[in-house]
Amino acid sequence: MASSSQIKWDCPECLSTMEARHIYCDNCKSMLVWTCVSSGKSGLYSNYHRHLKRCDYCTPELEQERQQLKEEKQISKVQDLQILYDGRQHL
Ligand SMILES: [Zn+2]
Ligand SMILES: [Zn+2]
Repeated sequence: MASSSQIKWDCPECLSTMEARHIYCDNCKSMLVWTCVSSGKSGLYSNYHRHLKRCDYCTPELEQERQQLKEEKQISKVQDLQILYDGRQHL
């Protein structure tokens, strides 16, 4: 179903595919590489959590949070500009 995991786990050394999420390959103990099928991105296990936080496909439930973060960043940018502008006015 569409709700099942869209992540594939492959070993870059012996090219075996793991069924479940592992850090290391069962056969050769190399760090596994994930592939996010929906977004087409891939990387080492060590980057996996970073991807999860950013990927709309892996964590759709975080999308609202991401939007909010973006808005907050934009607001703080506007405030920075405002401060710059005010500073100039006083000179
Ligand atoms: Zn392997
Ligand atoms: Zn993803």
